[in-house]
Amino acid sequence: MSPTLNAPWIAVQTAQLLAQRGHAWLLSGPSGLGQYDLALSLVSAWLCEKPGPQGACGVCGSCHAIEVRTHADLCVLMPETVMLALGWPLSEKAQDEIDKKTRKPSREIRVDAMRDAVEFSQRTNARGQGKAVLVFPAERMNNITANALLKTLEEPPGEVKFVLATEAAHQLLPTLRSRCLSHTMLWPDKVQALSWLEQQGVVGVQAEVLLHAAGGRPADVLRQAASGQSLVWWSSFPRAMARGDVAALSDLSPSQAIEALQKLCHDLVLCQSGATPRFFSLDKLPDSTASLASLTGWYQRLTTAARSSEHPFNAGLMLEALASEARLAITASP
Ligand SMILES: [Zn+2]
Repeated sequence: MSPTLNAPWIAVQTAQLLAQRGHAWLLSGPSGLGQYDLALSLVSAWLCEKPGPQGACGVCGSCHAIEVRTHADLCVLMPETVMLALGWPLSEKAQDEIDKKTRKPSREIRVDAMRDAVEFSQRTNARGQGKAVLVFPAERMNNITANALLKTLEEPPGEVKFVLATEAAHQLLPTLRSRCLSHTMLWPDKVQALSWLEQQGVVGVQAEVLLHAAGGRPADVLRQAASGQSLVWWSSFPRAMARGDVAALSDLSPSQAIEALQKLCHDLVLCQSGATPRFFSLDKLPDSTASLASLTGWYQRLTTAARSSEHPFNAGLMLEALASEARLAITASP
């Protein structure tokens, strides 16, 4: 089960959305706010046998089927990498191809999966509570899949509800956006986020610093804490990177390393412009001699690297390259 599923700010938003009628919702906002959890909470309520105004009952057959990822009336449309990460089963054919190493898990929502979803929405429902399609992250559809979904949204085959969750709504087809009721994810306030983190076992100064580091997004904090990113590590990270010390990256996957470096770069840019850093405290940042242009260039290279970081050629080499590039970028002459 996803950690923020029962978080108070997700519960509030579930009740808000259930109070309105809509057969297609678009949930948008930056990452770490729980759009996937809200989407799951919403479809669980739609399919629940005894839903209340607050959402699904959590104990009926339908709720259980969702928990064990086998609900016949729920279609989950995600890139295969995301399905695997969130514990959803792939179609038999897809699993077979990946097991046989014919191809790697897809980072986009595949045309095949969309075809299955269109077929799903035309079938009669199995459990009698209607059907639901959950799309996440919706920005990972290409034009073909997005148009197929659009067609299904325009001619809803009846009794199917849709929820699209995205971290980049601007990347969606405008026609797709206009077919959905739109909901912008709420930010939990600091007190709420800290008390929720405490329940999850992240406490005290560590919670506060990591929440700051995650730009106020509690789900990101939990992810960081789970991957062993401690307070001490985070505080020493900027100077370690100024030295090009790859050991500071050794517990991270390439995508986590890139994310941390982007935060560092972001803060160095803020400092250069005289603004307050967002992710690190000012006294932990190295004195950078780099120009704004060279920091921006570094940020762009990190963004490019992020695209290939889920399947790096060699993770160790990639981390070494990232550390040495960080040192060069931070210590570049103006
Ligand atoms: Zn239920």
